Amino acid sequence: MTRFVFVTGGVVSSLGKGIATAALGALLQARGYSVRLRKLDPYLNVDPGTMSPYQHGEVYVTDDGAETDLDLGHYERFTGVPATRADNATTGRIYSEVIARERRGDYLGATVQVIPHITDAIKEAIVRDTQGIEFALIEIGGTVGDIESLPFLEAIRQLGNELGPAGAMFIHLTLVPYIPSAGELKTKPTQHSVKELLSVGIQPHVLLCRSNRPIPAAERRKIALFCNVGPDAVISALDVDTIYAVPLSYHAEGLDREVLRHFGLATGHAPDLSRWRRIVGAMRAPEGAVRIAVVGKYTNLLDSYKSLAEALVHGGIANRVNVELDWVDSQVFEQPDTVARLEGVHGILVPGGFGERGTEGKIAAVQFARERQVPFLGICFGMQMAVIEVARNLAGLADASSTEFGPCANPVVGLLTEWAHGNEVERRAAGGNLGGTMRLGAYPALLADGSLIQSVYGGKQQISERHRHRYEVNIHYRDALEATGLRVSGISPDGVLPEIIEYPGHPWFIGVQYHPELKSKPFAPHPLFRGFIGAAVAQARLV
Ligand code: GLN
Repeated sequence: MTRFVFVTGGVVSSLGKGIATAALGALLQARGYSVRLRKLDPYLNVDPGTMSPYQHGEVYVTDDGAETDLDLGHYERFTGVPATRADNATTGRIYSEVIARERRGDYLGATVQVIPHITDAIKEAIVRDTQGIEFALIEIGGTVGDIESLPFLEAIRQLGNELGPAGAMFIHLTLVPYIPSAGELKTKPTQHSVKELLSVGIQPHVLLCRSNRPIPAAERRKIALFCNVGPDAVISALDVDTIYAVPLSYHAEGLDREVLRHFGLATGHAPDLSRWRRIVGAMRAPEGAVRIAVVGKYTNLLDSYKSLAEALVHGGIANRVNVELDWVDSQVFEQPDTVARLEGVHGILVPGGFGERGTEGKIAAVQFARERQVPFLGICFGMQMAVIEVARNLAGLADASSTEFGPCANPVVGLLTEWAHGNEVERRAAGGNLGGTMRLGAYPALLADGSLIQSVYGGKQQISERHRHRYEVNIHYRDALEATGLRVSGISPDGVLPEIIEYPGHPWFIGVQYHPELKSKPFAPHPLFRGFIGAAVAQARLV
């Protein structure tokens, strides 16, 4: 039987509900249980694919090509369980489903209402494909009290009733702030937040209380008393130096024990947390440091590069070094004599991106990396910029560009209007909708024998990685590009889509059309980040 654990948040947003849910998933796994993690987002967008990274942070792409909330990235990084389309539902998706059914006449003349039709669709989304899973962790986005989240709270209240305490539990994440003038931790916001939950019929079983200092026993008892939970069920969730210490910290405070107790499961055996101790140990005792410049666009909102930043940390763990990141807005390099800022960095990374602004600066950064022999990793847009740099500066195609920025004489990067996906051919109209019109999800690539990329992947001949882009490196320019010494070292199985480029003769210069950062985990660093940071370590010894 699948047990459902619902995680809600109160008091303020940004308390780290996603990481809390992911860490609980890791703890249950460490106790030997199978888990599946899911997020319900109350906003009206059908998916976050069309939302600006400034507003919503990174769009996390799953193997099956769903554009999802960045919390699904945390779920995968903490549990290694690949997320799917079914693991993220929004109000927009639920309403579209219900409205499509209504148009088909499925409701047989009934008045279609929030309760029961929307709440039924939410319940279906929660339980879909959870057979055989021991724990399904369901995070409700937003903060209790938001108008938008009401149907979700109503749906989980109903499910809680239907499944009973043996099948469902509620965890509520709150904030216990420290007020310096009073010299006290304050419990009132937590009390109010639980009242808010009670007003929609949900009594939480465990309170996870974020605070920047330990919550004394007296305050814990007070919270327990006012919020109608046992004193052991008030867990203090302290700030920690790295998110990967969260499973250890929550375990020390008894979170997994309380969850097992709720379901009447044995708590005697200690979970195997050796994986997390190793990760945190490596992070807290690095043997050196490398400095990496990340030359991108949304550098002032680091949530938009969440998986990338984590994958770089993982590369550091793999090489036992601390990775210092210098986030540079690429527009900086569009002013004269500014590339000198890159002097002394041990690696240059140009990440994914959209739109023309700042591209000349990215191209300048690629040129610096190529000419100065600095390890370079170009991801998606970063690979496209590397191809444009080589085309312009080495292949003599001065007007080489991407059609993403408008028509051009030498479109070395261009719009692909059809490609094979399994046995089906996907077709795209050039002027069609923006939502859901990208090459999304896992696609295979063949690696060239004897290439750097093949050694990075440990000798594999074929890999599968996740994509999210509209434009492709134009295969018609392959010969012109390869004549400069560049090598297309990874290609789609049909030989049409360049997936990887590298520059033999350069210590470490790789561009990939896919997003390797999405599959990196602290306990299984992605080979490209292991390799890139390894090359940066070698570079650090040189400079
Ligand atoms: N804008 C580019 C494209 O659509 C790259 C996208 C990306 O970096 N994710 O192809």
